[in-house]
Amino acid sequence: MCFFPFSSMAQLVKGSTRLRSIPVRFRYLFLLATIFGSSFLLISITNRTEILLVNNDQPLNSLDLHHYDLEHDTSFTIKTEGCTIPGLIALDETIKLFNHPPKDLKNCPNANYTLLQHNESHIWVDTEILQYYNVPKDGNMSCCYKPFYRPKSIVNVFSEHVDDRVQYEDCVEFFSYIEVEHEFVRVSCDYDQKTVYEQYFLFPSKKPFHTFGENKVRIQPQNDTPYYNVIVMGIDAISRLNFHRTMPKTLEYLKKKGAIELLGYNKVGDNTFPNLTPMLLGIKETDLKRTCWPHDSASFDNCPFIWQWFKEAGFYTALGEDSAKLGTFNFAKYGFIKTPTDYYIRTFLHEAEVNVGNTKDFNSYICMGNKYFYKVLLDYIEDLTSTLRYSKLFGFFWEVSMSHDYLTYPMAMDDSYKNFFERLDSSNYLDNTVLVLLSDHGIRWGAIRLTKQGRLEERLPFVHMLLPPSFQENYNLAYNNLKQNSKRLTTPFDMYATLSDLINLEEINNEKIKQRTNSSYTLNRSISLFLPIPKNRTCKTADIDDHWCTCHKGIKLSTKSLEARDAAEQLVRHLNKYLEEYPHCAVLSLAEVLEVTEMMAGQPRKDEVGWREFMVVVRTAPGDGVFEGTLRRRGDQWDLAGTISRLNLYGDQSRCVHHYQLKLYCYCR
Ligand SMILES: [Zn+2]
Repeated sequence: MCFFPFSSMAQLVKGSTRLRSIPVRFRYLFLLATIFGSSFLLISITNRTEILLVNNDQPLNSLDLHHYDLEHDTSFTIKTEGCTIPGLIALDETIKLFNHPPKDLKNCPNANYTLLQHNESHIWVDTEILQYYNVPKDGNMSCCYKPFYRPKSIVNVFSEHVDDRVQYEDCVEFFSYIEVEHEFVRVSCDYDQKTVYEQYFLFPSKKPFHTFGENKVRIQPQNDTPYYNVIVMGIDAISRLNFHRTMPKTLEYLKKKGAIELLGYNKVGDNTFPNLTPMLLGIKETDLKRTCWPHDSASFDNCPFIWQWFKEAGFYTALGEDSAKLGTFNFAKYGFIKTPTDYYIRTFLHEAEVNVGNTKDFNSYICMGNKYFYKVLLDYIEDLTSTLRYSKLFGFFWEVSMSHDYLTYPMAMDDSYKNFFERLDSSNYLDNTVLVLLSDHGIRWGAIRLTKQGRLEERLPFVHMLLPPSFQENYNLAYNNLKQNSKRLTTPFDMYATLSDLINLEEINNEKIKQRTNSSYTLNRSISLFLPIPKNRTCKTADIDDHWCTCHKGIKLSTKSLEARDAAEQLVRHLNKYLEEYPHCAVLSLAEVLEVTEMMAGQPRKDEVGWREFMVVVRTAPGDGVFEGTLRRRGDQWDLAGTISRLNLYGDQSRCVHHYQLKLYCYCR
């Protein structure tokens, strides 16, 4: 259960159910406030020193929308009735020192000397590069074009390598160029009885559209029903803020195009698999056993992945990862026996990794010959979307080779991703495509994980949803809900429901959204982001285990404890700081510590580096003002986080000042 601090009178007044949890003396304050405060303007100051005028009569919804600009308020990441996630700054002091450029990252060998060039129809020898490989231009270098594929016949259906099966065809020799006629090709070039160059090539040419269980070719249904392509692109192990730190150009591009960032997207399991299972199947990893994956040595063929629903609706489907070894469904698992999607590149990736994979860095080979694997995947997505530009496509793609093990390696991919999006956009593909760029969790190891922020970031992966321009127009309510939900507690389960809504767009037209909004869905585990996610959603109702929950939980301290006293004194010190330039106002002193709550987000490990956060309520003298504020403690240093609210009325105590911020705090001498 998440705890939320009440930080303003408006919130106090609003929540009658919450009254029970408020100490008796505050209930009197509450009554007082209600009696005198109905037409009273409460003023509070945020740490941005932007002034908020809060009318008690105003519903909080409209306040949230019009007055809170969360992105600039660093005191919390999201703040709803059910969940407050602490504010995090991308380059917080405890994090800065880890954000160095990846100087150990290796280039692929011969990265600038690509002997075999290709386009979508041909592969050819770049004669200018020959000399680099010590081959004379007329030296008769011969190349072998060897297609390969995933055979239908299976030797051993129980083998753990069943998903790696492959069949190579005979070599076709060429000297300068060759026309490509296959999806997967290996080319090696020999000179003087030595192999001087070898590379793998991937060509997503258009395939006939098959439906399930039929060998018969079908015309892909292209009726007049509107549709958007859906492209989900994952980058493994990047927190929301690590994406800000390491891929700022891509971020800026997405922002410029109006992508919506989910601030409260909380992971639901440790690593990739338990976070992708909810996203792709809508169920928990632990439920797989009871549904479609009875034991660890079973394949995933019987699992109803979301791409199957898209296929049923006439979409081509694609599944592609940039690592075979770390494949989501193959790492210590058996993968697929049948071919799960129309376009499935595991066969290719596995061969490329085994035969020309190099530059192993911790877990992954990061290069395929002289090219980074992540670029192989990006190029593939670009080629595939170009091939299928007049067809419906659902594609799920996952990058892992570069980002999985090192916090700042994603810096090396920033330009490539940004350029990729720009090209996709200039080809107009994004005009009819919903694109989701996301991760499964933040980095799970390394020194950053010894910090509080590192722990929270691990649980808060990034998500950006880029919708086509027509979406906002045609699906206005769904769009507005999504925008609002960017500041709510959300999970991969919701992503499943969201993607499901894109199979048939009638599900999200305004009329349907209105209807669905009135249905009882608010306690569901998977809620489409096109519907309003309830404000009172907690980790419990969202089915996020306590261990992964980043929402605040309040642990009350004894008001007599030293730490509580310290915190209270600090709040008064901050109040006096506001007042120091106003000699008419009395210096305030601490009259009573009313309440001190430590705001915990999950369980810190011993010796964790980073701040602790306390919500403090004090009564001061003279004037008996009751103030509430949130303080952060870093070692001996106490900082104010966000707002100081006044919880009782100041009447005419502050008649000597006219500055409406100060009226809250000033007791005129
Ligand atoms: Zn992962």
